[in-house]
Amino acid sequence: KELGKNRCRIFVPKDREGELKRATFHKKQRILDALAADRFEVWYQPLLHLASRKIFHYEALVRMRETDGSVVLPGAFIQAAERHGLVGSIDRVVAQKTFVLQALLEKQGRKISFSMNLSARDLADAGMAAFLQKSIKESGADPQKLIFEITETAAIQDMDRALDFIRQMKALGCRFSLDDFGVGFTSFVYLRELGVDYIKIDGSFIRKLHERQEDRSVVRAIAQMARELGIMTVAEFVEVPETLEILSGFGVDFGQGFFIGKPAPAALAFSRIPVQP
Ligand code: C2E
Ligand code: MG
Ligand code: MG
Ligand code: MG
Repeated sequence: KELGKNRCRIFVPKDREGELKRATFHKKQRILDALAADRFEVWYQPLLHLASRKIFHYEALVRMRETDGSVVLPGAFIQAAERHGLVGSIDRVVAQKTFVLQALLEKQGRKISFSMNLSARDLADAGMAAFLQKSIKESGADPQKLIFEITETAAIQDMDRALDFIRQMKALGCRFSLDDFGVGFTSFVYLRELGVDYIKIDGSFIRKLHERQEDRSVVRAIAQMARELGIMTVAEFVEVPETLEILSGFGVDFGQGFFIGKPAPAALAFSRIPVQP
């Protein structure tokens, strides 16, 4: 189109390089704009405590609100944000909004715990622990009700720094969860070294739990191992009722997924709170 109307040109790989560069630049600018205009929103998805069938724990999941009102999922911008050194800014926004919400609900007499996702970059980000500590204090959130989800690939890059970060936040009373458990390479080393409080069994083992004997064997074994280690378990991607019953039978502690509840904006997930907490 740049060459004028009614023309065609044969594709050469070099064209694509320029395209990709423009696309990532475009993404970087979109992220910067969204940060400046406070267009990163936090949606919340419930976790069901299987023994009591109660909900008192939610996961914070970030969304980008476009200027046209549409919602963009993290799969479309987190990687670009990591590449451009912007994921820390996004995660600070998510954390701060979640702390404020936790404190607000606590004041209303509702005791809710919140998980939030941290990226590899955050664990190596020298200012992150201090920011989180300050933000927790200022918001009045209860640190005992804050859980940080980390992935195996996230922590693997610099173990000493990750351990240091975890130690600092644990000293405050916060807890940690190993996300997407079972699809990384060094699950068991991490279990031993990181001292996590929760394991989130990867959704790929859970989605077809009612159909696949192999998945049931894996999940049952993870649940038993976690129990013996004193670690709580969460199963993500609970999409059908049968799965819930199987998980209960295995003694898995929490279920999360579309069958239990989809992620929703704070004002929808929690009634009686202002639209912008
Ligand atoms: P995750 O932490 O493993 O989160 C679970 C993802 O699965 C979420 O996608 C959630 O909406 C989706 N999900 C939940 N239940 C079901 C289900 O029953 N079936 C299926 N098929 N999917 C389900 P989402 O919100 O698009 O987030 C994708 C990933 O982006 C997250 O995976 C997490 O790694 C990352 N992410 C999300 N929020 C943040 C954030 O604030 N900071 C960082 N650094 N990463 C984030
Ligand atoms: Mg997560
Ligand atoms: Mg997960
Ligand atoms: Mg996952």
